[in-house]
Amino acid sequence: MKQQLAPQRLNSERTPGQPRGTMVLKMKPTARVLNGIEIAAQIKAEVAEEAKALAASGITPGLAVVLVGHIAASEIYVRSKVKTCAEMGLWSEMLTPPESVTTDELLQLVAELNGRDEVDGILIQLPLPAHVDTRRLLEAVSPEKDVDGFHPINVGRLQSAASHGIQAGTALAPCTPAGIMEILKRSGIAVAGQHAVVLGRSEIVGKPIAMMLLNASATVTVCHSKTQDIGRYTRDADILVAAIGRPGFVTAEMVKPGATLIDVGINRVTDAAEVARFFPGDTTRAAQFATRGSTLVGDIHPAAFDLAGAYTPVPGGVGALTIALLMKNTVAAAKARRGAAQRSEVAAAEA
Ligand code: NAP
Repeated sequence: MKQQLAPQRLNSERTPGQPRGTMVLKMKPTARVLNGIEIAAQIKAEVAEEAKALAASGITPGLAVVLVGHIAASEIYVRSKVKTCAEMGLWSEMLTPPESVTTDELLQLVAELNGRDEVDGILIQLPLPAHVDTRRLLEAVSPEKDVDGFHPINVGRLQSAASHGIQAGTALAPCTPAGIMEILKRSGIAVAGQHAVVLGRSEIVGKPIAMMLLNASATVTVCHSKTQDIGRYTRDADILVAAIGRPGFVTAEMVKPGATLIDVGINRVTDAAEVARFFPGDTTRAAQFATRGSTLVGDIHPAAFDLAGAYTPVPGGVGALTIALLMKNTVAAAKARRGAAQRSEVAAAEA
């Protein structure tokens, strides 16, 4: 992969064997920041346009969000999703069963949402309480309304992407990995033929991003907690996706100079000494930490970014894309389902 180079300093010292009077130009990679906030804004603007066009034909895409109990982080995410729906011209509804809700009661709720025509997307905010059978619930969501892309039908469609038109954006793929692909595409980063190394094999990030990169013709290596000598793989990565939830796990020594580093990790660091270790001399971070008592660090050590060709910062990188992709999926689900319904009504009327 091409590496952006910029002069670091002119060094007139001679190295052994170098002729007298020559100068050496030392080069240092200049990392390009892949701004997730800007890319998310582009996607949201496109989604709002599509929603407007659908509204003109009488369709307002709708998202139902199920939030069980009172987990503070989940409440923040859900509020943000609902607020973004309103900004995009999408309709949304929040359902808030109590912590004590049973699996059967939730299955009934999902069945009702599956049956409501104005609901295009159903999102079950995770994690659910331990007594709820999460897998059964996710599988109960109609695949056509599965805007999180977690249903086995959609997981299967992702695997056989070419024949199901995933790349054309007509099927539902998990939002965070889909956001990563948008970052790569919109930043003009070549994927085909590149060695992509994915750290982590979770159902929501690691496995689907590995599959998407493979579908985009990368050569993909997936590492996980049982992988031996991870650096051996990361040092050969043209594109490195880190999704393991370990602050600063990928160090500068583990990175190939010029590589594209995609940092999915979101780790809250609350220890002042650790913050100083990750961000030495960074007065902005220090001030932020002093005010909030914490700061966010990705799975890639900030020092490794200096070596990259391009990288996603934390915060402001991958994390910024997830809600935008949820909106995109909701509009796609509305178009696929209600557009199809409208076409069959027209066909029936014409017959
Ligand atoms: P997860 O379900 O906990 O999975 C973690 C994965 O990392 C597992 O596959 C695990 O391996 C692997 N792993 C853990 N420790 C490792 C180590 N020391 N060396 C190598 N592999 C290791 O996590 P997740 O849900 O995928 O999330 C990962 C990170 O991304 C978290 O920081 C999370 O907050 C963040 N995230 C961000 C977004 C967003 O930006 N919107 C969305 C989702 C997640 P095993 O399979 O062998 O256990």
